[in-house]
Amino acid sequence: MTVRRTIPLHVKILVGLLVGATLGLSANAFSLYGQDHGFPQARSYVDLCARIADPIGQIFLRLVFMVVIPLVFSALALGVAGMKDWGRLGRVGLKTLMFTAILSTSAVLIGVGLTNTLQPGRWLSVEKQKELSAKYSDDASQSVAKAKKAKTLDVILLDIIPKNPFQEMVGALDGTSPGGGMLSVMFFSLMFGLALTRVPENADILVGWLEGLQAVSMVIIGWAMRIAPLAVACLVFSLTSRLGLSILPPLLGFVGTVLLALSLQMFVVYPALLWWMTRRSPIQFFSQISEAIWTAFGTSSSNASLPTALRVAREELLLPDEEARFVLTIGATGNQNGTALYEGVVVLFLAQVFHVELTVTQQIMVVLMSVLAGIGTAGVPGSSLPMIVVVMQSVGVPGAGIGIILGIDRILDMCRTVLNVTGDLTVAACVAGRPKAPDSSAVG
Ligand code: ASP
Repeated sequence: MTVRRTIPLHVKILVGLLVGATLGLSANAFSLYGQDHGFPQARSYVDLCARIADPIGQIFLRLVFMVVIPLVFSALALGVAGMKDWGRLGRVGLKTLMFTAILSTSAVLIGVGLTNTLQPGRWLSVEKQKELSAKYSDDASQSVAKAKKAKTLDVILLDIIPKNPFQEMVGALDGTSPGGGMLSVMFFSLMFGLALTRVPENADILVGWLEGLQAVSMVIIGWAMRIAPLAVACLVFSLTSRLGLSILPPLLGFVGTVLLALSLQMFVVYPALLWWMTRRSPIQFFSQISEAIWTAFGTSSSNASLPTALRVAREELLLPDEEARFVLTIGATGNQNGTALYEGVVVLFLAQVFHVELTVTQQIMVVLMSVLAGIGTAGVPGSSLPMIVVVMQSVGVPGAGIGIILGIDRILDMCRTVLNVTGDLTVAACVAGRPKAPDSSAVG
């Protein structure tokens, strides 16, 4: 009898990532070499490969995004309804809020503290600053235009309650919904789940229907995940073959500060909190959630990583189902530590580049706004950019300056999304508390 060894999915995704990055960087080097050595067609060949690779990655992303709304709705409503008594729900909700606030604040403080200490904005030469601003000026204008549409705080808060939840669902993933987008969808799902606990005589059919919806969504995601390694390779190839590493040297100070800050939160703060609250071994925790980590890295999207996060929470971390559903679905949009940290670093970095001296009050404002931005930013690639412009403008840093970091943003998006998803799983584990010891009384 032959034993078929299956390679774990996270290993396949990691291999996909490495293959995509290696091929992408080589292709980029090839096109640069071609340009310098009288073979300009090299660029077109590389572009052609990227144009073939990109749709393959997009098929995967679309398959996943396709079921994000049904999944968020069913998982959150079931999570709330499953807790039945409102006291338990209140406790879980409060704990989630508390851990989210602690982790987001620590993330932003680490980012802002490091940027103030290392001063990466002073490392960028004026020529490079002008060159980068000019190169990405179109993209920068788009972010500024989106930022202009930003609402005031009272409207943002009111918009969380949707007038028409279906309209919110329609536009939640591309930012075209009239109200709070994914936050409004979450609010509706929460209310739906809460109300379900109050109609026990009619609830069975609806609960069964929601369970079916969730199960079907997970099956579709399972199909999508089969092509995840190839898709991630294609997405990373298309990105790295276009960008290469030439963008890196002038922004090395900035990239180094972001990566150092993200690493401190990931490898110091999360493990410390996890050990303190749950006595889980951080190394084991990271290995148990590795599939979610690599999916986040490959897709740059917390929402696309939600199904994998739900699965590792249930199958690897063995967290109670309702609580994990509740914390992770809310966290995929509402707890984005990496995004919050990044927003703080970018605003301070660009303030340094443009020689805008921020007062202590302005820095506190940046911290607060970045923490809030981590709650309000949608879990899709690049969604934090308009919010960064809002924070920049509110402290007097020119919004169009965002062009300076746009070239490198996509790669850093992958890294901050890892933190966003790991943060959600950390909060979920902390809310659940210490794992129950095996029942020793059950002697066979
Ligand atoms: N891509 C991030 C996420 O999905 C959001 C962002 O920072 O742009 O979590």
